[in-house]
Amino acid sequence: MKAAVLTAPGKIEIQDVKKPEIKGNELLVKLKFCGICTLEQRLYSGSRKMFYPLIMGHEAAGEVVEVGKDVLSDITPGTRVALDLIIRCHACYYCRVGMSNRCLNRSLSNKVLGGFGEYIAIHYAQAFPIPDSLSYEEAAFAEPVACCIHSLKKINFTMAEDLLIIGAGPMGLLHLQVALCMGGRVFISEPDERRRKMAEKMGAFLTIDPDRENVSEVLKKHTEGRGADACIITSPAPGVLDMGIRSIGKGGRINIYTSYNNKPSIPVDANKLHHDELIISGSEGRTELDFQQAVRLLSFGKINVKPLISKLTSFSTIDSGMNSALSEDTYRVLLDLEAE
Ligand SMILES: [Zn+2]
Ligand SMILES: [Zn+2]
Repeated sequence: MKAAVLTAPGKIEIQDVKKPEIKGNELLVKLKFCGICTLEQRLYSGSRKMFYPLIMGHEAAGEVVEVGKDVLSDITPGTRVALDLIIRCHACYYCRVGMSNRCLNRSLSNKVLGGFGEYIAIHYAQAFPIPDSLSYEEAAFAEPVACCIHSLKKINFTMAEDLLIIGAGPMGLLHLQVALCMGGRVFISEPDERRRKMAEKMGAFLTIDPDRENVSEVLKKHTEGRGADACIITSPAPGVLDMGIRSIGKGGRINIYTSYNNKPSIPVDANKLHHDELIISGSEGRTELDFQQAVRLLSFGKINVKPLISKLTSFSTIDSGMNSALSEDTYRVLLDLEAE
């Protein structure tokens, strides 16, 4: 089968690799679309390294073509599925306490990612059936939506609260839509005008240009002087965490959703944390419950990811697709695994 294989930083080769054979508890899935996420961009640029050769891709959807003899679900060949491409052992400490996104065994095997190939063999629990009303392109967003659900749960985001999202890239906009589903009022700080416009179209209550306005003052103005109840940081820009801390009220919670290339230390007034009972947390990945809820929100039509599909790429154009994905001008670029 054909696969886009990362052989070194910046080097993707289209190779003919062995089509996977399934074990009894596995499904063979013919992949249709896979999103190019920050992880793939970092692996491609070399700022993050795993191993080589590597078939990247973790935001995938496809059609089941073969079902192992021990599969305990009603999935049959032809079932359309979104794929949760992470190993969860279900036996380590973190899996057992409900934090399977932190599974200690998730990277023990070389069976990671794998969405940039024509086929993939996965455990049947990693496949989430989708309705015919949801396209494969849209289903490829189940993973990032699930990560946003996880992020908002992390700060106990609750109905009728005010949320500040810093950054209106694809993850900021998906957080926006999930927060609206949860009954929130959403403010967005974003310096790029086009991205602010998109956030407004998607239902943000107010967008703020942090280069021209004082974000914490704007928040206070709209909340009787309190500030936001919660804040999500989706941008690694220096200084925005401090801005978030200044923009939340007493009892406010902040989640650091973004990852960083370096190891920045955070500016925080410990006495303010104490007095105002603030909570600062981080989140990465999603549990199977988050993934299930993401697939359902997408299936119900509660989240519209179509405006976030900026471009489709193919095996033959993967380098330009990766470069488009790295560009500020795109939201998500998807690899079409059936195109030449
Ligand atoms: Zn992702
Ligand atoms: Zn585990």
